[in-house]
Amino acid sequence: MSYISQVLENIKAKENQAEFLQAVEEVLSSLGPVVEEKEELYKKYAILERLTEPDRQIIFRVAWTDDLGNTQVNKGYRVQFNNALGPYKGGLRFHPTVNLSVMKFLAFEQTFKNSLTSLPMGGAKGGSDFDPRGKSDGEIMRFCQSFMTELYRHIGAQTDVPAGDLGVGAKEIGYLFGAYKRIIGAYENGVITGKGLSYGGSLIRPEATGFGAVYFLREIMKGQGEEIKGKTFILSGYGNVTWGSCLKINELGGKVVTLSGHDGFIYDEEGVKGEKVEFLEEMRAKRLGIKAYADKYGVPFYPNQKPWGKIKGDVVMPCATQNEIDIEDAKAIVQMGIKYVVEVANMPTKNDALKYLVEKGVILAPSKAANAGGVAVSGLEMSQNSLKLAWTKEEVDEKLSNIMVNIHNQILAVCQKYNLGYDLVRGANIAGFEKVAEAMIAEGVY
Ligand code: GLU
Repeated sequence: MSYISQVLENIKAKENQAEFLQAVEEVLSSLGPVVEEKEELYKKYAILERLTEPDRQIIFRVAWTDDLGNTQVNKGYRVQFNNALGPYKGGLRFHPTVNLSVMKFLAFEQTFKNSLTSLPMGGAKGGSDFDPRGKSDGEIMRFCQSFMTELYRHIGAQTDVPAGDLGVGAKEIGYLFGAYKRIIGAYENGVITGKGLSYGGSLIRPEATGFGAVYFLREIMKGQGEEIKGKTFILSGYGNVTWGSCLKINELGGKVVTLSGHDGFIYDEEGVKGEKVEFLEEMRAKRLGIKAYADKYGVPFYPNQKPWGKIKGDVVMPCATQNEIDIEDAKAIVQMGIKYVVEVANMPTKNDALKYLVEKGVILAPSKAANAGGVAVSGLEMSQNSLKLAWTKEEVDEKLSNIMVNIHNQILAVCQKYNLGYDLVRGANIAGFEKVAEAMIAEGVY
């Protein structure tokens, strides 16, 4: 049995965390060419075994008082997966679906994504099963303060730097940072990213994930002799990542015709542009469903459905959450003749669907590469905090664009080296993995 299969079998026998196993299987099964080449070395240092076991998994109780004076209890998590390349780095997710499996898969993915950015960041993720929807401002603040009362001892600008993710935006980051500052009694704003501009945040950070994904697609399209201009985009979600993608797609002359929420999807033939993109911010702040968009702009609303395979277009961009695209969706996407799928959410495609899309010749930009722009600008926020200065919008945007081009180049180099054709999925996994493995070997066994 090959080293990869052996490690996979062992993990499957020990773990029953569906999302984590899915992510591990997806990465490991694409590492064949590089692991074959260096099998002896990787085995000697147990690289695959160590890379699939987090450095540390912290689980804690978060008790807080609701507006009625009752005590509520949630679970809090921080999975510090790997710090071979730099301090642990990754967002916090507040969503009822959060559990240890979701945290582990996200932290695992983050390790390779952060490696691809070429900035010095290890991989981590955290969060809570707390549901911000329907909570008052006061409740969110008290929850964040209680959460930080435990988290603070595990984080720091040189150790572990959280940020936002689903359910954690600028407001939550502000409350979390305020609580941290009060507990430690010092103004160390490099401890968290995604901050507001007035207290050490970076320009372009809110837009970064969406902008980065579109820059990455622009690189892919260049190779195909195509451009964003004139293309029709099928998006899901309506949060931060969808918003940033819409802004950049519009700027480059593309048209976004679908958005979705937990309640269904909308089809806007005219395109989501102008003040409609601004309205997404209001919808997010109020945590409305996507029906609010249909009601306001009089466009068709499809309750409890996903947009995949229902609407014609050139590019599909899942921007909401994990496992949004299953095998049936993948078949419908192929049937519709879609040429590009850009994963902007983390692991939005199930493994069988991913395989199917690639086999059918769809150009698939995997999330590790395509959505790395968010954490990349977080890395740039850390740099600015260390330097105690702030770069202009143009400076940050240019650095972001260069990082995305560089990720594409790294993948191309790997594809060439290992004769993979133009396989962005395997290329991204191998490119992300090689750097982490090299650093782990250099740093010794622990
Ligand atoms: N949550 C984002 C991601 O999945 C950003 C993480 C960060 O900025 O640390 O990459």
